[in-house]
Amino acid sequence: MTDPDPALEPSMTDAVRRHVAGLAPDALPAFVYDLAALRAHAAAVRAALPERVELYYAAKANPDAPVLTALRGSVDGYEVSSGGELAHVRATVPDAPLAFGGPGKTPAEILSAVDAGVHRWHVESEQELHRLAAVLTGRRPEAVVDVLLRVNLPVGAGALDTVALAMGGRPTPFGLDPERAEACTRLLTDPLGPFGPLRRRLRLRGVHAHLASGLTAAEQLAVAGQIVGWASRLAERHAFPLAEVNVGGGMAVDYEDPRAHFDWTAFGEGLAKLLDRHPGPALRIEPGRALTAYCGWYATEVLDVKRSHGEDFAVVRGGTHHLRTPATRGHDQPFDVLPVDAWPHAWPRPAVATGRATLAGQLCTPKDVLARASTAADGLRTADRVLFSMAGAYGWNISHHDFLMHPRPGFHYLDG
Ligand SMILES: *Cc1c(COP(=O)(O)O)cnc(C)c1O
Repeated sequence: MTDPDPALEPSMTDAVRRHVAGLAPDALPAFVYDLAALRAHAAAVRAALPERVELYYAAKANPDAPVLTALRGSVDGYEVSSGGELAHVRATVPDAPLAFGGPGKTPAEILSAVDAGVHRWHVESEQELHRLAAVLTGRRPEAVVDVLLRVNLPVGAGALDTVALAMGGRPTPFGLDPERAEACTRLLTDPLGPFGPLRRRLRLRGVHAHLASGLTAAEQLAVAGQIVGWASRLAERHAFPLAEVNVGGGMAVDYEDPRAHFDWTAFGEGLAKLLDRHPGPALRIEPGRALTAYCGWYATEVLDVKRSHGEDFAVVRGGTHHLRTPATRGHDQPFDVLPVDAWPHAWPRPAVATGRATLAGQLCTPKDVLARASTAADGLRTADRVLFSMAGAYGWNISHHDFLMHPRPGFHYLDG
């Protein structure tokens, strides 16, 4: 299916190329973000979704302040998973609703999140409920917490008659097993139970599930249908009004093929049908990667090209201590070459001559590889520039910056 809206298929802009071409070698490596492209992409995603679906951005994918701010016009809120993210997102986009999740909330984080008044609380364990109740008991009576129970449901994404892909339902530190969610629901709805006196302040609003990442639209829809169905039956059994269901993030991003984007149009249409079958609750999604991956580039230059036992290696400034994504996921980061013709030196210019090269960073470890044996590196020369695309999510913020004490990259935010 091709999408009618080109903003759903973001690609390299001339602004990024021009900007990188104008940087001095010592200004590299640099992360370059195209905020105008990000805003257009997020607006197109929002437009593909039914009105009754709320779009939250999972801040852990990239919590850069300009990125959070650029998204504000298109998202309904932000999902945060630590006290640090909560404070940072609140300070950056002060009016935005926040959903607070995470499996290991400290007592101090729970206290400050209650006082900060987050919009939704994703409860991950029974003990967390008890801690919340204890904090609320000691707080002013206006303090309320709206709870979604995070549940680890066994569901299948076997849409379209393909082999069922089972997700959730496996041992993890995340969320509640279905029978524990059942027990938490009893605690929250029983007027005579231990939380009875807090019933108007510790309010069960619904269910949250984030079960997998890298799902296609069809798979996401199959999973969302099962989550909503399960949540509706839970609400029926316990006679509480199901106000909302958050079906998580994890929309696929294909690093092998930057143009094979998640089908937001089909996803939006499917969610509209799901809402028709379940007229009660509001739906919420919380993608991270699929919103911001495409708006960031990691730009650098080739420092050296060498032949090693028959294979070419291009060593670039920087490496996986800035962009760890290909190392953690085991993929080749897609890239474009920006040729630099000037070569002011008297010695021969080292260049890739075998038709392919591995792009490695400066670290003294064989794991510092950004792309393996790539034919896109054919002819690549020392001092040419390389723009790694799809570097806008889980890039700099998940990387081990201090390993080997190389300089930090620059950060550039293009706008308009
Ligand atoms: C990481 C995470 C997300 C976002 O996942 P993406 O794969 O980046 O879309 C959403 N919700 C929760 C609870 C998460 O932990």
